[in-house]
Amino acid sequence: MNSRLTTRHLGGILMLALLTLALTVVACGGEEVVEEVEETIEWSYSGAGGPENWASLSADNARCGDGTQQSPIDITGYELGSSPPISFSYRREAEAVTNGGHLISVRYPTGNRLGFGERTYQLESVHAHTPSEHRIDGKSYPLELHLIHSQTFGDVAVVGMMFEIGEANPVLQEMIENAPAEIGSTETTGILNARNLMTKDLGYYSYKGSTTTPPCAEPVDWFIMLEIGTVSQAQVDALQNLTGPNNRPLQPDNGRAIATSGSRSGP
Ligand SMILES: [Zn+2]
Repeated sequence: MNSRLTTRHLGGILMLALLTLALTVVACGGEEVVEEVEETIEWSYSGAGGPENWASLSADNARCGDGTQQSPIDITGYELGSSPPISFSYRREAEAVTNGGHLISVRYPTGNRLGFGERTYQLESVHAHTPSEHRIDGKSYPLELHLIHSQTFGDVAVVGMMFEIGEANPVLQEMIENAPAEIGSTETTGILNARNLMTKDLGYYSYKGSTTTPPCAEPVDWFIMLEIGTVSQAQVDALQNLTGPNNRPLQPDNGRAIATSGSRSGP
């Protein structure tokens, strides 16, 4: 009798313990979900995570709110001038195309160089914004490509290229066809040769700005190419289907100088 009672008691205690454990797990799980919602509003291009709130989403994003050299800006008030030429030594193909949710981005191995004066930068990645982020003399374009370059000691240079509606662009087509429909990456070989990104005219507008996505890091050496490329409406639509509109609004220029190079060189 005693042993049966003991067994029943033990069984009851065990059941209670399991029930308590289950309730604790449910409670903890609930708390975790609530905390996650409170702590991580992801940056985006509208709503609570939109550009006007980027600075408050994370301490790392302070520059998005208090930076004085933010991008994009309206490229205006310049004189076509004689800044030093830039040179592209691009030859390598892409490693991967990534759908990051807000941007379709192409990653490059080392070996694609941008030269500016004494400085040499390496091409790291290329992504598209639809519509354009920068404006030129107040004009917005349906698409802007950003070619992100870095130096070994951390300086960043971004080349911006504007596109208007016209013939389809073969490089953008390779980007679109290899972009995953959902968030993720596709490894690539033999496509998206960086050489095919180069404009014929190497004239540019240049100014000191920032990255246009959080953490809005300053400074970035911006080179916006004078030559305007073409993209088809179907290509713009395809990119917008993947990411939605992804342009940060214009930022105050705070009297920043815009240099230009109207020289024509290269192939
Ligand atoms: Zn960009």
